[in-house]
Amino acid sequence: MVPSVKIAIAGETQTGERRVAVVPGLVSRLTGKGYEVAVEPGAGKPAGFTDDEYRDAGATVDEDALVGAGVVLSVQPLSPSQVPALAPGAITISFLPTAQHLDYVRAVRDAGHTALAMELVPRISRAQAMDALSSQAFVAGYRAALVAAERLPRLFPLSMTASGTIPPAKVLVLGAGVAGLQAIATARRLGAVVRAYDVRAASAEEVRSLGAEFVDLELPTLEGAGGYAREMTEDRSRLQRERLAPHVADADVLITTAAVPNRVAPVLVTADMVAAMRPGSVVVDLAAESGGNVEGAKPGEEVTVGDVSVWGARNVPSDLPAQASQLYGTNVVNLLLLMHTDEGLTPNFDDEIIAGACVTHGGEIRHEPTRDLLAP
Ligand code: NAD
Repeated sequence: MVPSVKIAIAGETQTGERRVAVVPGLVSRLTGKGYEVAVEPGAGKPAGFTDDEYRDAGATVDEDALVGAGVVLSVQPLSPSQVPALAPGAITISFLPTAQHLDYVRAVRDAGHTALAMELVPRISRAQAMDALSSQAFVAGYRAALVAAERLPRLFPLSMTASGTIPPAKVLVLGAGVAGLQAIATARRLGAVVRAYDVRAASAEEVRSLGAEFVDLELPTLEGAGGYAREMTEDRSRLQRERLAPHVADADVLITTAAVPNRVAPVLVTADMVAAMRPGSVVVDLAAESGGNVEGAKPGEEVTVGDVSVWGARNVPSDLPAQASQLYGTNVVNLLLLMHTDEGLTPNFDDEIIAGACVTHGGEIRHEPTRDLLAP
């Protein structure tokens, strides 16, 4: 039997965050191992889950869920003022973009807590069921295609009717990773003709397997470590933009998803390229929050460039909060239970998943880039 540990599911106080860290259906995976689960009142409401559903699943609903908690699960990091309430040596698991949350990092370090960041989980095969970047990108990619379809003042599918034939909409997707592939699949299901480009050679086959055409710009591939892209040189970037320009101009919809780890998103499309699209065309920039792939895109806003509508993404998985939470919660619970032993929850730093995801432990900052940010 594990020692009594309270696992708290925090309500999300951050504006616009509708996801919850653990959905009711996952509570039994924790109580089944002997843990007590306490949920802040209303924590699941924005995602569509009631307090009663958590109670029925075996959790308690408690205003003071965080007080004395040995584990806190959340989507966004807690605020520094919430940290002192936790039990000594508590474990916190959330997304934790440390550069934007240095006060929180200081607070958990000084309290001696173990903070794990979901975006730092190494993207190795064994960690796939804990890969929240992928699960949330999957949701965002789907939503990107729907946002575009809803805004485009045209039908997506080829339609042959007694009143005439309507040609299919043309969708161009830049960046064919997890989100891009899901955007391609969704646009294809809606009947659009889809083309896609990515700097990684491996993506061409994946694009074709979804019934889309891979755009060959006859440029060298940019494969980096761990299946990710590398950053472009300025020369390569200019050439890529020049060769992409006619494909962008020919598209009714442009969806961009390109990212390079630990870098600002590359600008793939200039405002001039957008303005050259047909009036009424739609651009969805899923990378808007991390700098933007499209010049002029603003996160959380829809702007007009020429006669083209440019939709800048902001926290898109929150637009589909129940299922985004279900997937995220599965990732979080899997990561937490990786630390489960008969003696309770014990982070094992010989495990590259725990070592990779850990930001603070035992009063130290273990994540080197964050340590550098806080160096005097
Ligand atoms: P990401 O979000 O970092 O980037 C999205 C896409 O943008 C990537 O496909 C990248 O190649 C592309 N890109 C970057 N710069 C570009 C540019 N200048 N022009 C066009 N495209 C550009 O990546 P992601 O979607 O999280 O993952 C990418 C790949 O990593 C996956 O497709 C997969 O092969 C691999 N991956 C592996 C695992 C695993 O093994 N567990 C997990 C996740 C991802």
